[in-house]
Amino acid sequence: MVGSGPGDPGLITVKGAECIKKADIIIYDHLVSKELLKYAKEGAEIIYVGKEGSRHTLEQDQINDLIVKMVGQEKTVVRLKGGDPFVFGRGGEEAMCLVERGIVFEVVPGITAAIAAPAYAGIPVTHRDYTSTLGLITGHENPNKGGSALPWDKLSTAVGTICIYMGVKNLPYIVGELVKNGRPKETPVAIIRWGTTSRQETVVGTLEDIVEKSKDISPPAITVVGEVVKLREHLNWFEARPLYGRTVVVTRARDQASDFARELEELGATVIEFPTIKITEPADISPLDEALKNLGSFHWVVFTSVNGVDAFFRRLSHLGMDARELKGVKICAIGPATADEVGRYMLKVDCQPSKYVAEAVLEELKKKEDLRGKRIMLPRADIARSFLPEGLKKLGAEPVDITAYRTVLADIGDEKLIDRLTVGEVDVVTFTSSSTVRNFVQLIGKENLTKLNGKLRFVSIGPITTETAKELGVNISLEAKEYTIPGMVKAIEEMLGS
Ligand code: SAH
Repeated sequence: MVGSGPGDPGLITVKGAECIKKADIIIYDHLVSKELLKYAKEGAEIIYVGKEGSRHTLEQDQINDLIVKMVGQEKTVVRLKGGDPFVFGRGGEEAMCLVERGIVFEVVPGITAAIAAPAYAGIPVTHRDYTSTLGLITGHENPNKGGSALPWDKLSTAVGTICIYMGVKNLPYIVGELVKNGRPKETPVAIIRWGTTSRQETVVGTLEDIVEKSKDISPPAITVVGEVVKLREHLNWFEARPLYGRTVVVTRARDQASDFARELEELGATVIEFPTIKITEPADISPLDEALKNLGSFHWVVFTSVNGVDAFFRRLSHLGMDARELKGVKICAIGPATADEVGRYMLKVDCQPSKYVAEAVLEELKKKEDLRGKRIMLPRADIARSFLPEGLKKLGAEPVDITAYRTVLADIGDEKLIDRLTVGEVDVVTFTSSSTVRNFVQLIGKENLTKLNGKLRFVSIGPITTETAKELGVNISLEAKEYTIPGMVKAIEEMLGS
């Protein structure tokens, strides 16, 4: 039984993550971050048993039966639960069910929402100047059932800070009980929805006005009652980040999106991954194979993308060779990410321009040496521009342009995204190459594009991408000064950050 933590996938414990990696079967709940499922090993069976308000995919008995059945098959099962499994998560019941059947289990505690959500809203649940007592309670009671299971008369004034789980629906009742039983109506209250995630929202008020102020808040939310709420005024670190509350769409290929997404999320943005391109092998791989078999005949290999580097080495290895074949061949990388990728194969680059476009590659190579008669390999995308080979030819070199990989249109994964774009839910769409623009326009359709221009902002990684965007009628609001992912992040931060 593993606690997943409150929402931010980084808040799982080291032990919890190790359990997920080992599991044959993972049974997870509604409030568990889907990001955590990335730890699952290949072939692991992943089963969703979420209960969202009154909509249950499985009733608790069925969940218990399912766990017992899976364990019975001698598989390692991780029961992944939101927050901590033993805090209002019915983890105790599930564990009891295992004990009754003689099943061996362990419990990995998680960070519970009542501590984490306030922390991310700038509220320490205890503080020596305010209170040394803390109570965790559930607000999920049926007030019509006649009589409350909670001793409100004792509770209301017994502890300084009261954190209430599942209290959104019953908030008027809860607030009423607290005041009726002696808690001053001026007591500060905060309600934190989707705490620790990029969707976090916080409403602050007092017992007197919080019901009115939080009318639009729906679950999941934690309610914090107590003087400590006042500290938020000074300690609100998470919501103060520059891109908090902003939504950014990343259109890169799925396996390349995560670094970019993480950098944006660290600044507080909500990121929607909308991969518009997919990287595949070229239709005809033989030109690449031929060139790799004759690597020694080249003076230079010029890499103009991370994908080019990967395709090059993957194929080299496939042919039974390795990096030693590059002895005596000089390497040029268009920019820092490409150079880093080359570095992953323990190789250094001999040439890297200070501007990350083909024009600058040409300038820099020219400075390095007289290129006349030099064979230069260009392992690139099928749709790469002809500028570089033509320029090299003009200098008397012998460029060999090779299609090392192909950029194809991705499937539109999320049909709803187009609606989300058009209703104004998104602030920025990012383009990291010309093909991302081309495919984006194709996927969303020209008619939708017209609606988007002016409604949200398009950001481009550099001049070539901007050029393509212009040709296709996409109004670029901003171009990165440095043509890299970090350069784009910086540009977005400057544009939107307050
Ligand atoms: N075992 C969980 C609690 C499960 S009960 C834990 O330890 O956190 C579900 C309730 O937890 C929700 O109704 C809400 O009140 C609270 N909750 C869970 N995740 C939350 C989050 N990210 N932000 C705010 N409240 C959350």
